Amino acid sequence: MKSVAENLREIRASLPDGVQLVAVSKYRPTEQLRQAYDAGQRLFAENRPLELDAKARELPHDIQWHFIGHLQTNKLRFVLPHTALVHSVDSTHLLDAIEKWAITHDKDVNVLLEVHIGREQAKQGFSESETLELARSIDNSRTGSAWQWPHIKFCGLMAMASHTDEAELIDNDFSRIEKLWATIKTDCPRLTEFKELSIGMSGDYPIALRHSATMVRIGSAIFDID
Ligand SMILES: *Cc1c(COP(=O)(O)O)cnc(C)c1O
Repeated sequence: MKSVAENLREIRASLPDGVQLVAVSKYRPTEQLRQAYDAGQRLFAENRPLELDAKARELPHDIQWHFIGHLQTNKLRFVLPHTALVHSVDSTHLLDAIEKWAITHDKDVNVLLEVHIGREQAKQGFSESETLELARSIDNSRTGSAWQWPHIKFCGLMAMASHTDEAELIDNDFSRIEKLWATIKTDCPRLTEFKELSIGMSGDYPIALRHSATMVRIGSAIFDID
């Protein structure tokens, strides 16, 4: 039987330098998060606003929280005060609401744009062409004084591969997002904060690492212990 600490040690050993391990702790009891914390993990991600709010209040304050779930504009107050990075920005409507929150609270908010790359019908995320168009438009706006969403830092992209066991399909999904990410980095030089590529979960992170992942989001491989 393996422990959370052993799982973390093995996963960390398999990650190249510079790749951040985001421990996806959604639905897990705080006791398990404490085991990860005691094993040195400080970066956790949740996907439900109220659960994030409750855990962030209860657990040590040197934890860095990320948000990876669908975010409704009426739930920002549960998420943004605790969150170092929102991976799952999937609409301009949400960007408008985050900007409004940021102005009110006099803060900058770090986000990734969620891109829909999998074969499943899109539930969440911008299409690849929408993402490129949006990034170019934000970059363009920064040539002048009328910046689009000036309180939002566009730190990179997040995506999930198709839900499949076929490594080739996953490889194809990740290579498309990798290219898109590289294109935006060259085409949008004013997005100086645009550096992160959040791809890879428990089942497919070794493939993501071959496609320039800078963050992997891993839940079950850390927390499922039988
Ligand atoms: C749950 C979740 C993960 C982690 O999935 P595992 O397969 O448990 O590693 C990663 N990213 C997102 C967006 C998730 O919702």
